[in-house]
Amino acid sequence: MKRSKTYRPATQLVHGGVERTSFNETSDALFLTSGFIYDNAEQAERTFKGEEDRYQYSRFNNPNLTALQNRLSELEGAEACIVTSTGMSAVYASLVPIIKAGDRVVASRALFGSSYWIIETLLPQMGVETIFVDGTDLKQWEEALSKPTAAVLIETPSNPMLDILDIKAIADLTHKAGGKLIVDNVFATPLYQHPLEWGADLIVYSCTKHIDGQGRVLGGAVLGNKDVILDHITPFVRNTGIGLSPFNAWVFLKGLETLPLRVEKMTQNALACAEFLEKSNVVSRVLYPGLKSHPHYELGQKQMSASSTMIGFELKGGKKAAFTFMNALELILISNNLGDSRCIVTHPATTTHMKIGEAERLHLGITDGCIRFSVGIEDAQDIIEDLQIGLDAVAALTNSAK
Ligand SMILES: *Cc1c(COP(=O)(O)O)cnc(C)c1O
Repeated sequence: MKRSKTYRPATQLVHGGVERTSFNETSDALFLTSGFIYDNAEQAERTFKGEEDRYQYSRFNNPNLTALQNRLSELEGAEACIVTSTGMSAVYASLVPIIKAGDRVVASRALFGSSYWIIETLLPQMGVETIFVDGTDLKQWEEALSKPTAAVLIETPSNPMLDILDIKAIADLTHKAGGKLIVDNVFATPLYQHPLEWGADLIVYSCTKHIDGQGRVLGGAVLGNKDVILDHITPFVRNTGIGLSPFNAWVFLKGLETLPLRVEKMTQNALACAEFLEKSNVVSRVLYPGLKSHPHYELGQKQMSASSTMIGFELKGGKKAAFTFMNALELILISNNLGDSRCIVTHPATTTHMKIGEAERLHLGITDGCIRFSVGIEDAQDIIEDLQIGLDAVAALTNSAK
């Protein structure tokens, strides 16, 4: 369809990238086909030679993947996008094709568990030197990036304690060291932060989170300039077979239509919950980028257009208090997904961040009393009443100990 102007995100997320068939269906059609047929042998030959651009095999491409890649690229203002089987395959695919044995990779310490494993365990096995820094400490970045470095991986806001890292400053240092900056933008969502505008080279998403947002399927995406995506990342994804299934792509296309509605409601609820938690005397710390008490509040205001659907907080009384709180909840679910339409709590120290070890965990501020809270789209009052039930159980615990 011919369009005379560029639409704003909420409009673009409903209409962007649609691959409409000759049947003129309203909604995105679902292309559950592994292959595509050729009119004749000559066309097959031309396709394999790269002389004719058409669908060939769904490990390479499929109309559902094209639609999702185009919709995400438009939203992000990126030249190109490749979608992958999971968020982790997106992280992996953003790194491996742009580094080789003997190279150096620097990463912020506060990373998603499996990303941490890639940097800490896998890359060194492949002959890559890896270095972790405290992401919010620019001195450490300056020192680590004083030597030639191929790639830098950061997460901001970080999982689970919502540190906010200065993308622009880290991008400048990365480029001086000759490398590419990869930003895992899951916690910010594609609505609230555009790392390419701050100088990042690649953005990765776990689409499993807010983009599906209804807890159904896994997937990922890598976005950036054509030269990196099309020449390096896309061939890696297609030839290693870590691409996305058409069905999952279709689910994400449906998810994107309602992304702004869900994420805005979740953010409003999260602010109300963060303000509520901050008033409780059994809560020792609340980390929410929308609260003035957040240690990187100013940077968040500058770098992001809104705060977050996620809250990190710490209960007084360690693991016992955290488990008592979680077990008392009646509405909020215990799980390790996030960005879902349902409220979910996680105890990072014994689940998502168990494997990194106690010393590293404490260094990241993940104490035994810490809870990661992914706020859903339910009624804010019901959520707050459920939090109150959990906090009352913790208060009863401390009173009975007296
Ligand atoms: C979930 C998540 C990932 C990994 O995504 P999967 O879809 O589970 O593979 C990577 N980074 C962050 C920040 C995440 O929250």
